[in-house]
Amino acid sequence: SLPETSRFSVRREGTLPAPALPPFGQFIGGEFVASTSDATVDVVNPATEEVITQVPAGSLEDVDAAVAAAVAAKAEWAVKTPKDRSAVLLRIADIVEANREILENLEAANTGKPSAVAEDDISSAIDTFRFSAGAARAFTALGAGDYADNHTSVVFREPVGVVGVITPWNYPLLMAVWKIAPILAAGNTLVLKPSEQTPLTTLKLAELIAAEVPAGVVNIVTGPGRVVGNRLSEHPDVDLVAITGSVGSGQKVAANAASTVKRVHLELGGKAPVVVFDDADLEEAAKGVRSAGFWNGGQECGSACRVLVHESVAEKFIEILVREISEISVGAPGSGDDVEIGSMISKAHYDRVLEALEDVRKEGHTIAVGGHALEGPGYFIEPTVVTDVPAGAPITYTEIFGPVVSVETFSTDEEAITRANETVYGLAASVWTNNASRSLTVPRRLDFGTVWVNSHLVIANEVPWGGFKGSGYGRDLSIYALEDFSRTKHVMYNRG
Ligand code: NAD
Repeated sequence: SLPETSRFSVRREGTLPAPALPPFGQFIGGEFVASTSDATVDVVNPATEEVITQVPAGSLEDVDAAVAAAVAAKAEWAVKTPKDRSAVLLRIADIVEANREILENLEAANTGKPSAVAEDDISSAIDTFRFSAGAARAFTALGAGDYADNHTSVVFREPVGVVGVITPWNYPLLMAVWKIAPILAAGNTLVLKPSEQTPLTTLKLAELIAAEVPAGVVNIVTGPGRVVGNRLSEHPDVDLVAITGSVGSGQKVAANAASTVKRVHLELGGKAPVVVFDDADLEEAAKGVRSAGFWNGGQECGSACRVLVHESVAEKFIEILVREISEISVGAPGSGDDVEIGSMISKAHYDRVLEALEDVRKEGHTIAVGGHALEGPGYFIEPTVVTDVPAGAPITYTEIFGPVVSVETFSTDEEAITRANETVYGLAASVWTNNASRSLTVPRRLDFGTVWVNSHLVIANEVPWGGFKGSGYGRDLSIYALEDFSRTKHVMYNRG
């Protein structure tokens, strides 16, 4: 349903250059090869609804061929010195940087995200390659010592072997790079399956780096999760499977992986609480929600989507927040650096978000701003703030993954902590306060893998990213990612 009048409109004054498409095929053993299946998947620009291209739908045989290539390449890659692996990662970073506009445009065309977000994605990806290049060399053996009579121990870190990677559509290239860079740094080879909706930048990356990476070290197989992703997670020659995606997909992957007792690395959904105390700087907190709740159109696992504000400042906070959100500029990629929100990723996801807004109406909450679709073409939705949300309402624990932020109130610190933790997710949270004691105690009692104080969604390569509870286990970024993608071996020498 379109509103009769909307304070928002979709800006379309700019155009993106025609996307530079990757070659057609699966990237296996260092080259693009034909799939054994003739079926294809349409890749759509969700800001225009036009079909950009097709990619192979993928087959079990494609996965098996890619895993065989990764197995064949693993011994040689594993014995390379960290310095040599690091040099490859640095060259990849330079190639991505030299081709950043191609990648940004392709990403924006395939996701409908604002150009500013696509630019940020590529900058972050470059930094992840550079960080991982350095980390590869700092990631030394765990140590040596004498712990039993006449014996000396050495504890080594070894690559796990072949890693299967499954990525989502919200940051297609960045989520791929968050895995590829540390996996290669730690000496593994990999087979990656991008989201069937957004495979283009991952395939383009493969094309760009093909000459730099030994054949078989990186393999990309496109296709649906239930075929390609499923085969990767059950494949006997895949040693570890890592997925960034929804809780349901993570559960399926972990269950499948159990048949071969392979290790699993899960980065799943989120529903991040934003706890605003009465002593907080309300302007700053509202600005924080504007940027972190609506970044990438709210299609963000750490999105600042659930505000809990102290009742004594709630009215004032909501007034500021509504003013901030009303100023958000919506537009198609290419229509200006100040555009904050692009389209939803697909018709199906757009329909899901609109359905969630219908549920909000049925629950009797107030829609303080937004709440509707915007005129097409493209899957645009108004930035939305929902208020009058009681404790325990479905919107407080359901991941909407769109431009929708809800606001609840609380009366005591204890209540705020308890209610913030009342979710199956445990990825990220933020606390807004100018009280030093609260800023120290509250984050420690929140069950989330990342807690920001007076900030939200600031991410750096040096520090880990990952969840607790239903948000999964395993860490992306930082030295912890290299740990997750390696195994520990103890060798004990009898000195006699
Ligand atoms: P999704 O689970 O639908 O898909 C993710 C990937 O899993 C896709 O490549 C898909 O093809 C694959 N997949 C689906 N079913 C599978 C199966 N049975 N076996 C193997 N693979 C399968 O998720 P999405 O809609 O692409 O992404 C949105 C979700 O990802 C949200 O829940 C979001 O919170 C989460 N996410 C989490 C993080 C994080 O860092 N924790 C980052 C980005 C996105």
